[in-house]
Amino acid sequence: MESVTALPPADPELRELLGTLSDLGSAAAVLGWDRETMMPPQGAEYRGEVMATLEQLAHRTLADPRVAQLTQRLAAAAQPGSVDAAIARVVARDHERAVCIPVELTAEIERASAAAIPAWAAAREASDFAAFQPHLERQVELRRDLAACFPDVAHPYDALLQPYEPGATTAGIRDVFATLRAGLVPLVEEIAQRPAPEPLPSGLPEAGQRTLALEAARALGFDERSWRLDDSTHPFSQSAGPRDQRVTARWDESDLSGLFAVMHEVGHSLYEEGVDPPLARTTLGSGVSMGIHESQSRLWENQVGRSRAFWSFWLPRAQELLPPLRGLDLDDVLRRINVVRPSLIRVEADEVTYALHVILRFELEVALIDGTLAVADLPAAWGELMVELLGVAVPDDRNGCLQDVHWAFGEFGYFPTYAIGNIVSAQLWRALRSAVPGVQESIAAGDCAPVRDWLREHVHRFGRRLDPPELLQQATGAALDPAPLLEDLRLKYAELYDLA
Ligand code: ZN
Repeated sequence: MESVTALPPADPELRELLGTLSDLGSAAAVLGWDRETMMPPQGAEYRGEVMATLEQLAHRTLADPRVAQLTQRLAAAAQPGSVDAAIARVVARDHERAVCIPVELTAEIERASAAAIPAWAAAREASDFAAFQPHLERQVELRRDLAACFPDVAHPYDALLQPYEPGATTAGIRDVFATLRAGLVPLVEEIAQRPAPEPLPSGLPEAGQRTLALEAARALGFDERSWRLDDSTHPFSQSAGPRDQRVTARWDESDLSGLFAVMHEVGHSLYEEGVDPPLARTTLGSGVSMGIHESQSRLWENQVGRSRAFWSFWLPRAQELLPPLRGLDLDDVLRRINVVRPSLIRVEADEVTYALHVILRFELEVALIDGTLAVADLPAAWGELMVELLGVAVPDDRNGCLQDVHWAFGEFGYFPTYAIGNIVSAQLWRALRSAVPGVQESIAAGDCAPVRDWLREHVHRFGRRLDPPELLQQATGAALDPAPLLEDLRLKYAELYDLA
C-alpha cells in the first residue's frame, strides 16, 4: 500500500462534500459528549432538536445524487488499492445505504425510539416487561421494514449488521459464536467449581483512583494537550477530531472499575487518534467497525490491564495511592481483579462470561428479526438461554431482558460486535506478541509504547480504508477466529484458579 501524501480525495468537489459531512459528525460528537458530561438536565429537549438537525443535514448531504456521480468518477480514476479507491468504495456504500432507506422510515424510527426509551426506563424500574412490550414490537417491526430495504441479503439480520460491522453475516457470526460457546461454557463451569477469590478490599479512595488511572492512561498514550478525562454516568469515549479525544469514567470505592473503564475508553480513543492524518475530513478518518473498535478497548483493558506484567509495574504505585491494597501481594491482586463467576448483568460480567451474555442477545435478536420468536415470548426465551449458557436463573425482567437500553434505541445488530471485539483482541494480541518479543517486559517496565505502536501500524492508521475482514487478515494472517481467545483464557485461568 502506498504512503498517503496529498490530501485525498483528488476531486475538490467531493473533498469539500466529505469535509462537510465529517464536520457535521464532529459537531454532533461534541454536543453528544457535552450532553453526557456538562449539560444541565433541562437542556436535553432543545439539545435533542439541535442534534436531530445535524443528523438530517448529514443524511441529506450523504444522500445527494452528486455523491454517486462523484464517487463513480473517483473510482474510475483511482489506482487500485489507493486512498482514493477506498474513499470511492466506502462513500458509495454509505450513499447507497442512505438512499435505500426512505426518509419516512428514518423519521418513524426516530419517533419510535423517542417513545421507547422513557418507556423502557420506566418498565425496567418497575421490572414490568408487559409495559415495554408494545414499544419493542414496534421497534422490531421497523427494523424488519428497514431490513426489507435490502432485499439482496441472505438473512434480514445481515442488513442490520452492516452499519456496525461491515462485511459481517448472520451465518458467519453464528459459526464463530458456536465455537466460542462450546469453549466458554465448560471453562466457566470448571472455574465455578473452584473457590472464588476474595473481592478487593473496599474503601479505595476516589482521589487516589483518579490519580492512578490518569498516570496509567498517560502510559497508554493519553496526553493533556489533546485529550480530556471527565465523569459520566456510563463511561464512554468520543472523538471530536484527530487531536481532540474525550474519555469519561465513573468511580466506585469498592473496586477498580474506574481504572479499567479508563483503560478501555483510552483504547477506543487511541484508535481514533491513530488514523492517518490525511484521512481526516474524508469520512474514512475513524474506526472501521464497532467490533474492531471494541478489540482496541478490550486489548488495553484485559490483555494489558488485567495482566501480571502490567501489575508488576503498577502495584507499588497503586499501594501508595490506595492504602487498603498495601497488605496484598501481586498474586493476590491478580486473583482479585480476575474473579470469574456467572452473573445476571452483562455490563458487570467478567472477561470469561461476558461473551456468553452477548451470544444470548445475538440468538434472541436474530430470532426476533426473522420472526421465529414473538416479542411476547422474549422473557421466557431469555430465562431459558440464561440457564443454558450461564446456569443462572433470572429472578425478574429488570435483571433479565430489560437490563440493556439497546433494543429501546432499536439497535439490533450491535450486540454481536462486543464479542467480536473480544475475539479480535486475542487475535491481535497473539500477532503482536510474536512480532514484538519483548512486549511483556516493556509493559512490566511501565512502557506501553510498543503495544500502541504496533496497533497504530497494523490497525489504527487505516481508519475505514480496509473493511474488518481485510484488516484482520492483514494484521493477523487469519479470518475471525475464537481459538486464540479460548486458548489464552484457558491458560490464564488455569494458572489463577489451579485448574487441571
Ligand atoms: Zn467499548
